[in-house]
Amino acid sequence: MSKTILVTGGAGFIGSAVVRELINNSEHTVINLDKLTYAGNLDSLTSVADSPRYQFEQADITNAEQMDRILADTQPDIIMHLAAESHVDRSIDGPADFIQTNIVGTYTLLEAARKYWSSLKTSDASKAEGFRFHHISTDEVYGDLEGTDDLFTETTPYAPSSPYSASKASSDHLVRAWGRTFGLPVVITNCSNNYGPYHFPEKLIPLMILNALAGKPLPVYGDGQQIRDWLYVEDHARALILVAQKGNLGETYNIGGHNEKANLEVVKTICDLLQEVVPQDANYRDLITFVTDRPGHDHRYAIDASKIEKELGWTPQETFETGLRKTVQWYLDNKPWWQKVQDGTYRGERLGVGG
Ligand code: NAD
Repeated sequence: MSKTILVTGGAGFIGSAVVRELINNSEHTVINLDKLTYAGNLDSLTSVADSPRYQFEQADITNAEQMDRILADTQPDIIMHLAAESHVDRSIDGPADFIQTNIVGTYTLLEAARKYWSSLKTSDASKAEGFRFHHISTDEVYGDLEGTDDLFTETTPYAPSSPYSASKASSDHLVRAWGRTFGLPVVITNCSNNYGPYHFPEKLIPLMILNALAGKPLPVYGDGQQIRDWLYVEDHARALILVAQKGNLGETYNIGGHNEKANLEVVKTICDLLQEVVPQDANYRDLITFVTDRPGHDHRYAIDASKIEKELGWTPQETFETGLRKTVQWYLDNKPWWQKVQDGTYRGERLGVGG
């Protein structure tokens, strides 16, 4: 049955993949609620923006009146909550926005959802019965696996290290509490590092691709031996849509691609892929430059995704090798998208003020 799904943060990296997947491969109507911070980019949605099943609402999740109005106007069956401040380095330079959006914003949205859900119980009991609030989070809430072969499971205790992961951990706790205390029908997912098309160029993989193409240094933190578990963003989007509709209420699902790689290995693989598709005399690897490590940098993250695989039958379609190849090719084919991000015009144009 066709539903109305409200996606917060739908102009971001993962949110836009969810919106594209819903418009292209489902019958559902999508409301994209996004503040359009520096990380929000409507250019990532041009392929679906003309669909009659797509609607955009520019709004801030910390604004209770806006949240109440939008929920009342759009009457969603499902809320998929992705809006967040998401960049660890920015959370170290200035944590305030992370506390505001990730914690206060999630609280504000939960309260709006609770009010809306209560009103549904009197106006449309069967819609209230099917209503779901899906909170999207990160494996960084579990902290650091340094020195062990362990994997994060859904019962791993929280031990966040950065202001970003602490704010996400806090939002997870709020969502779980709203489920337990107020009976709000919630489900939570915690996912490993994503990569793929439309990724903002401040993040590791796009930064390395674009710097290498420009002949600029490839800055690697510390010794580059920090291990991340990589997942192709479209595999994550498919997992999220599955959990939003079929995940058991009150449960948490870890999502990951079984792709543990050291950062230095990722950067070297990108260099080798580029050497293959954009050959040059000098080796791209010569651009690798080691820089002072990030304070509090976690050494290793790795996800046990067996629960979502067994209970919901999800498996990733891409390996790291196929996904990375697709990603490198996407950046080569979509220069106008990333050039507008790099020169800032993706922001000016949408505000109508030009470059
Ligand atoms: P992103 O930074 O690319 O996008 C975030 C989006 O939220 C942007 O469009 C931004 O405009 C919007 N936003 C920010 N503050 C807002 C506010 N106050 N009100 C409304 N909208 C606001 O982030 P992403 O990488 O797409 O991550 C999406 C979610 O997935 C986040 O909750 C993040 O914690 C989680 N996550 C990310 C990863 C990853 O590898 N990127 C991995 C696991 C989980």
